[in-house]
Amino acid sequence: MRSIAVLGATGSIGASTLDVAARHPDRFRITALAAHRSVDALITLCTRFRPALAVIADPACEADLRSGLKTAGIDCRVASGPDGLVEAASGSHCDTVVAAIVGAAGLASTLAAARAGKRLLLANKEAIVMAGPLLAAALREGGGDLLPIDSEHNAVFQCLPAKRADLSTAGVRRILLTASGGPFRGLKAADLGDVTPERACAHPNWRMGRKISVDSATLMNKGLEVIEAHYLFDAPVERIEVVVHPQSIIHSLVEYVDGSVLAQLGNPDMRTAIAYALAWPERVESGVPVLDLLKVARLDFESADLLTFRCLDLAFGALNAGGNATTVLNAANEEAVAAFLEGRLSFLAIAETIERCLAHAEATAPANLAAVLDADLTARTHAQRIIATLSG
Ligand code: NDP
Ligand code: MG
Repeated sequence: MRSIAVLGATGSIGASTLDVAARHPDRFRITALAAHRSVDALITLCTRFRPALAVIADPACEADLRSGLKTAGIDCRVASGPDGLVEAASGSHCDTVVAAIVGAAGLASTLAAARAGKRLLLANKEAIVMAGPLLAAALREGGGDLLPIDSEHNAVFQCLPAKRADLSTAGVRRILLTASGGPFRGLKAADLGDVTPERACAHPNWRMGRKISVDSATLMNKGLEVIEAHYLFDAPVERIEVVVHPQSIIHSLVEYVDGSVLAQLGNPDMRTAIAYALAWPERVESGVPVLDLLKVARLDFESADLLTFRCLDLAFGALNAGGNATTVLNAANEEAVAAFLEGRLSFLAIAETIERCLAHAEATAPANLAAVLDADLTARTHAQRIIATLSG
């Protein structure tokens, strides 16, 4: 029986995780649930899953959570704030942590889970982009396993040999990350001047939270995933390639030196990756419909348009630059995407904001969590200033 803490329980990945877990009550028990401010949704989940601990990240919501749980007759511990999230990620109630908070807000709890030796199911890609080396060190310290939930990395994980010293000795030539191309595939900058948040969030294949949906529309999502692959698989940047594959049936591929290319296929439904990570090394039913290849009929591939979707190029640039550039990239992107979703910044100005912030990146890599958060905050301040000029 695995005991599971779901951080970001009220989100899209949280819902898919709980859906899979609920199919196997003999294997998975939910022992902690955490959200940001969605008190009512969290109470509903607590009523259904009866965790030992419920955490609301915003301390201002704690009283409402306590009284709501009392009214619902749920007897569980309640915590809030950053310490509450860290407790949910590292306490003795769980052996498995699903890190599905969106953005930098998930970093401290992700690191805490790794350090505590939990099995870490990582969806929160921003954490690894901000602090890849720190997460690797925390995993070494804790001795637990990391299983990627991001569908591409989950696919790569499935296609790599289980025991490998490094990619070269495993005979890996390249990691090929597939990208759907997002809702604006085929369009040019001239077509993207007046894009609304609604259009940007209307992904052709996946239903996801709003931040990652915008990242998919700018292709920054794929940029973050290139960085994620670099850290997860210890892959040099020149061994990672992006291939646009509009059907989102092949979730990624690994090419070997003998010419073999292994791919993982499936319907675009995150429950496959989540079920794999939850049950690893076994397999369990996930609720995802059977893949009907005859209905899919064809699989197309094209190269990414880096001139139109500059965010992908900026991410490659940040990875090559080293130092604190990927931390800066992530912070600037989070600020720009939030401004875009609030109608304060145009779609095309997202890349512009990030590019200008990257000019302030430093050559020294942050040595600890405090240094990462410091670089993050500085980049956000720069980004806010740039956003004010670009939107003014
Ligand atoms: P959602 O926006 O749907 O959900 C985000 C979750 O995080 C919610 O539970 C939210 O709580 C919580 N949250 C937000 N801000 C904070 C905060 N400051 N402190 C604590 N909790 C917070 O996002 P997704 O589920 O789509 O994405 C989650 C992560 O998974 C992201 O990093 C994303 O990149 C990654 N991912 C998502 C995929 C998908 O298919 N959705 C695919 C691959 C990766 P509340 O409801 O209270 O706001
Ligand atoms: Mg992905």
